[in-house]
Amino acid sequence: MMRVSDFRSDTVTRPSRDMLEAMLRADVGDDVLDGDPTVAALERRVAELLGKDGAWFVPSGTMANSVAVGSWTRHGDEILLERSAHMVQWEAGAAGALHGVQSTTIVAEDGRLPLDELRRSIRLRSLHCPRTTLVCVEQSFMGSGAGPGGRVVPLEHLRAVHALAREQGIAVHMDGARLMNAVVASGVAAREYAACADSVSLCLSKGLGCPVGSLIAGPREFLERARLVRKRLGGWMRQSGVLAAAGLYALEHNVARLAEDHELARELASVLDGFDGLECSPNTVESNIVMARVTHPRHTPESLMAALRERAVLVLPQNATTLRFVTHLDVSTEDVARVVVALEELLG
Ligand SMILES: *Cc1c(COP(=O)(O)O)cnc(C)c1O
Repeated sequence: MMRVSDFRSDTVTRPSRDMLEAMLRADVGDDVLDGDPTVAALERRVAELLGKDGAWFVPSGTMANSVAVGSWTRHGDEILLERSAHMVQWEAGAAGALHGVQSTTIVAEDGRLPLDELRRSIRLRSLHCPRTTLVCVEQSFMGSGAGPGGRVVPLEHLRAVHALAREQGIAVHMDGARLMNAVVASGVAAREYAACADSVSLCLSKGLGCPVGSLIAGPREFLERARLVRKRLGGWMRQSGVLAAAGLYALEHNVARLAEDHELARELASVLDGFDGLECSPNTVESNIVMARVTHPRHTPESLMAALRERAVLVLPQNATTLRFVTHLDVSTEDVARVVVALEELLG
């Protein structure tokens, strides 16, 4: 079988043999009836990692974010987020559809919500206005494709957002689907970033290589409400210790190695930038996401994606001008070399 080089997302990884063996060995129980010891261990481990009172295990990052929105808000409230944030762009309108809140967006291509605009966006406490109750930040920030992707939002910025929100009595949720990428890229501890938010979600099935699972962490009062919201969303699972075991394995073995993904992403960016018709500056690559602008006269991101697919290289268009490449556990320099061969044929 021909090897496929899959740069579409860091979600495409297959569980390794060692991870599968850890899953086989997991001690399990019915988490809904009497608790599952491996899920409990993962929840404690993540709560400790993030410096929060506790965490709940849920099937997906989308559900982790949804639990946060449902827990911090009431119907008719308003939440503030960046316009291309995952929660706005890629979660099928969950905040409005499931929790009845209005999402008001602010544009910040680097993921840093401008503080003056954030302050202006918080509504008057008036019967005429929705209550602004939650600000959401994303770390690392995937980006829209208008600029670089996988940005690490600086700690000082996150602190300033949190201080502003707190002063206004508003909670902050951090969509930390790729938080560990930001941690490894910056050297700042996870709990330092997490301290800038009241609740934090963390995805195990992105760069960390698990088949399933996310966690939502926060303070005690939040967790009580969050457990109810998770129950309503159908996210309370049974012998989920088999999945939690993969998470514990990943936190042990797959975090430090994210540095290799970041290195490979920079290498890929410099390769892409070397082709006429592609623009991608390697020194803007901070983590594992590479956004390449297609400026070639005969190609669009769509046409290039299709042509690359014929050469067993998979990528995704991010928008009408940009192709997205994501590095992860299951791609290597060998796959970057295959991109070079394919692009030489197509653009050379
Ligand atoms: C992937 C992702 C999520 C959640 O995705 P799921 O596919 O539901 O696990 C949330 N936020 C960001 C920034 C993501 O990249």
